[in-house]
Amino acid sequence: MPVHLPVLYYQTALSTRIECNTEATKSWPRTVKCKKGCNSCCNRKLEISLAEAIEIVTYLRNNGQWSEVSAKISKIDMDLSLVDPTVYFAMGLKCILLKNDECRVYKVRPIACASHYVHSDPDLCNAESGKDGNYELSPIMLKLFEFNARLKKVFDSDSVLKRTGWLPFALKAASIVIDHKFESFEDFISIHKGEFR
Ligand code: SF4
Repeated sequence: MPVHLPVLYYQTALSTRIECNTEATKSWPRTVKCKKGCNSCCNRKLEISLAEAIEIVTYLRNNGQWSEVSAKISKIDMDLSLVDPTVYFAMGLKCILLKNDECRVYKVRPIACASHYVHSDPDLCNAESGKDGNYELSPIMLKLFEFNARLKKVFDSDSVLKRTGWLPFALKAASIVIDHKFESFEDFISIHKGEFR
């Protein structure tokens, strides 16, 4: 059963990514240290909205990469969802969406990633050298909060699509929505209650 996210959602997500890239480019490379090929920050414990997860899973499926990512998700220790983000960062686990040192969903990457630019040495974003993640974030990060506020307006007040969860959980839930009836998504959320906000 195809899932159609509202056009307004795509416009919101796309415009936020463009705003982030534009602001980063304006200050590039004088102050922003992020550059293509750097994935030092891809070890954070990411929380993404289910709407973003559906967009990402659809993109992966259209590009023949979903089965590979799905296999990775099935091997993840789901107890990691309970780990504190600071501890998770220090564990140095790389994101399951990273392939050959590049984000395989860059075009539709989570807004938390699109709005993550640093002014500090990229080594500080790395768990091994950064220790507690003591990096200096760009104010572009504020776009993430703007996006979340706009997301709430795009969906009905009771829509589960604006709920957020740990990236692997959110991707798994998204694939259930795409494969099955929408109600099974609600079932998934209720079975895994506590894992989505
Ligand atoms: S989604 Fe992409 S940019 Fe974000 S942490 Fe994962 S690999 Fe990195």
